[in-house]
Amino acid sequence: MRIAILADVHANLEALEAVLEHLSDESVDRVVCLGDIVGYGADPNPCCDRIRETAEEVVAGNHDRGAVGLTDVSSFNPFARKAIQWTARMLEKNHIPYLEALPLTMTLFGEGATFVHATPSMPEAWEYLFDPADALDEFAAFTTRCCFVGHTHCPTAFVQNPNGEMAGVHLDRLQMQNGCRYIINVGSVGQPRDGDPRAAYAVYDHAAGALELHRVDYDIETAGEKILKAGLPPAFAKRLSHGL
Ligand code: ZN
Repeated sequence: MRIAILADVHANLEALEAVLEHLSDESVDRVVCLGDIVGYGADPNPCCDRIRETAEEVVAGNHDRGAVGLTDVSSFNPFARKAIQWTARMLEKNHIPYLEALPLTMTLFGEGATFVHATPSMPEAWEYLFDPADALDEFAAFTTRCCFVGHTHCPTAFVQNPNGEMAGVHLDRLQMQNGCRYIINVGSVGQPRDGDPRAAYAVYDHAAGALELHRVDYDIETAGEKILKAGLPPAFAKRLSHGL
């Protein structure tokens, strides 16, 4: 089975539509979303509509939970908090129970792969997994061969070899090896932060143990203009063109 894995759409409809168009040529069997459908961008409702239409499995991100009052947003930076308060006001009523009901973690392929927005050890602490040393502790928190995460918006693979040694690599193309375990961040659809402004998503072939990260051009200018027009912090428009 081939699945497309999308994370951190962040209400960027232009990026999401470009990714959905791209993956329609990738013969995937299903679409999985790792959360943060909303927050930062100007199109929370159309993005919820499109994810609900296309993604069979979705876990909650901190912005999704924040928008419906299930996560305390006082720890968000002031700009992100402003955006989430705007999102909460704009959110159509029918999306509220949907976002409220999203699970924090899930497994697919029997017990073959774990999916969580931030970290498997404490999904609701919303910690950022950048450092291989931090990732090492996380491997004890799930039992599957691989765990897919979002949240940092930086495509990364943390690989633990059979001796327990760890390495972190920028994610591009990955062939999984026998005996190794993986924590894989698929990057962000709607707000990449690895210096490449193109939308990111991954296609994972479970039987082949193979994963490919895709980068997709989209209409950054329109997405940015909508952010400005909505009165959201201009920095969120600006950062889209830098991918930071
Ligand atoms: Zn995010």
